[in-house]
Amino acid sequence: MNSAQPTLFPLALHPTTRQVADRVRSGGVAALTEAERRADEARYQEVTCRSALNRVEGMPFRWTLNPYRGCTHGCHYCFARRYHTQFELGAGDEFASVILVKTNLVAVLRRELDRASWQRELVALGTATDPYQPIEGHYRLTRGALAALADARTPTGLVTKGPMVVRDVDILQELSRRAAVSVYVSVPSVDEDAWRRLEPGTAHPLQRLRAVRTLVDAGIRAGVLMAPIVPGITSGRDQLAATVKAVADHGARFVGANLLYLKGGTRTHFLDFLAREYPELSETYEEWFAGGAAYLPDGLRNQVRATVRDLRERAGLTARDEEHESGAAAAPEGQAAGQEQPAFQWRAD
Ligand code: SF4
Repeated sequence: MNSAQPTLFPLALHPTTRQVADRVRSGGVAALTEAERRADEARYQEVTCRSALNRVEGMPFRWTLNPYRGCTHGCHYCFARRYHTQFELGAGDEFASVILVKTNLVAVLRRELDRASWQRELVALGTATDPYQPIEGHYRLTRGALAALADARTPTGLVTKGPMVVRDVDILQELSRRAAVSVYVSVPSVDEDAWRRLEPGTAHPLQRLRAVRTLVDAGIRAGVLMAPIVPGITSGRDQLAATVKAVADHGARFVGANLLYLKGGTRTHFLDFLAREYPELSETYEEWFAGGAAYLPDGLRNQVRATVRDLRERAGLTARDEEHESGAAAAPEGQAAGQEQPAFQWRAD
């Protein structure tokens, strides 16, 4: 090609996440002048990613993949809130209203998967933010990523709260045939009041469970993560029993559970939320998470775990995707022994 000719697509159409962070540091969110404000009032900043696959340590998988940063589902307990501060964005409202969109993710991913060195190790999709948050309907990056993973015969685990996952049944079936895929639909509780308050931007829990049913009926290995169980709000035995029963009624292949984990910006945001919405619990939480502790006291954790285990066994459900032979069974949200929620090693890509 004549080097004087312009390239068809500019190489750096959008800023990188690092450049976004620099802009926000100097001028606040208002400095993201290209960010598009959509009908949901969130701003969507398109960014260029240098890598699609992120290497992680200490998890049941080596690679993660996240098309979006920030999540309009806006769950108040979300562990990923604290990651948003790496872009100089806030872990509070900005986490749910300023979303970074890696528009070149699929092309970059395809290049990475094409490398001769790629070992087809398990990739966990949606570990930091939801790959089926509403904007996926517009960008279809998750769909493109799944197609690339299927073409590269790469086993995949996917976690989401978005019923939109059923849109991609065809590609998930293809991925099941070519490698392996497990879909973990997050339904921490079917308690209506807790859902409305804790997960303001998500679909109704029963809608998520219907998505599980659709996936399972389509032959896709799909189950539920009750993650996280929030002590004092969704941890009552009756609430847990209702959730496990609903999970079983919708044909889930497995159910995992973990408990609230509070650290960094997530901790600050959640405790502020608690003071507003559940002030009667604030003092108890100060005791549970005293001294900056990220985890609940062992006794309480073990008690909730034992209850879930008992209910699960009574319902005839397995703890997680144990039948899966390829290793894709490993739960993306940190279901390995002793882990409550993931502590991903993450970098701004
Ligand atoms: S759906 Fe997942 S990533 Fe999105 S806010 Fe809720 S917990 Fe966080």
